Amino acid sequence: MTAPVVQGWCPGAHRPMMSGDGLVVRVRPRLARLEAEQALGLCKLAERFGNGTIDLTNRANLQLRGVAEDDHQPLLTELASLNLLDAEPGIEVRRNILVSPLYQAGDLTARLTQELIDRLGDLPALPAKFGFAIDTGPARLLSADSADIRLETSHDGLILRADGVETGCLVSEAEAIDHLIALARWFSENFTPETRRMARLVAAQDLPQDWQGHAPGPVGSALEPGGCDLGTFYGAAFGQLPARALAELIETSGAAALRVTPWRLILLEGGAALSADAFVTDGTDPLMTTDACPGAPLCPQAQIATRDTARALAPRVSGGLHVSGCAKGCARMGPADVTLVGCNGRFDLVKHGRAGDEPCQRGLTPETLMSMDLT
Ligand code: SF4
Repeated sequence: MTAPVVQGWCPGAHRPMMSGDGLVVRVRPRLARLEAEQALGLCKLAERFGNGTIDLTNRANLQLRGVAEDDHQPLLTELASLNLLDAEPGIEVRRNILVSPLYQAGDLTARLTQELIDRLGDLPALPAKFGFAIDTGPARLLSADSADIRLETSHDGLILRADGVETGCLVSEAEAIDHLIALARWFSENFTPETRRMARLVAAQDLPQDWQGHAPGPVGSALEPGGCDLGTFYGAAFGQLPARALAELIETSGAAALRVTPWRLILLEGGAALSADAFVTDGTDPLMTTDACPGAPLCPQAQIATRDTARALAPRVSGGLHVSGCAKGCARMGPADVTLVGCNGRFDLVKHGRAGDEPCQRGLTPETLMSMDLT
């Protein structure tokens, strides 16, 4: 088996990635939100230029797959007309911001996120995967999601926290983004090829005490499909949003906007709770605890097809299931109760670990797995 290739950059709209089925074109929604009209326009583009499915990533971005190289430029023109494209590729790359999805228009989370978006040009040069989390709701929702610099609330007020450090420094709203930029500068002046993420850098080199001292507030419960004050959450198995079904759901539910999350959940703002076969509407559905990357033939590194096996095995696994086309484990960076890793057309089994961990069994076929006790 060949070692998985680790890409040093993230695909964007301007700089798409070539995959097994064509280009992957990533759209980064501002404030994790698309107006209904933008979302409906994106659904049409997924059908016209892509494979008819929009992928929701674990960075809360949206991806069109299967785009022909000749269609890239016309697609960019259409994305720009929907106001879903940054004019400058350099700004698009930096707009790597996770936003706690339960914000209200104009509240602290929305204001801080907008200011950060407006000041992306002030950030120093940073590694491509370096990102930010604006997690300033009453309870933290993004603590388990990848980010290098976090704005959070503590018992004493707003704090700025370097990922990998337990406490952060108190900041006023007026100075929060100045401090965030200063912390990004400290990182950019100190990181090495081995420490390209904040948690790795602070493990190797002490973060100055000025950036520490205040513990963040409590972590909130995980969100799940169903109604909330803002509308209705729907789940997307493996992060896949069938474009036609999504457009229909937006229209029939009366939603004013679509919000995206890093947890394979979309929120239809003001949207009614409807039964929708193409989406997960029940929080206990095992597909909500199952991750599977695109696998073969969609990803050139995949050693096996993934999603049919994941769907078949999901009800048979209690806890989290991760089916990965290779040892890179793109669909879930953390551990799962059961992880299946593609290797030369079969699966290796890792219990309570990550895709790159040592398997306890090797060379399993999907048929063998169906007859095994995986609980
Ligand atoms: S984990 Fe899946 S998507 Fe990622 S490189 Fe391997 S096969 Fe491709």
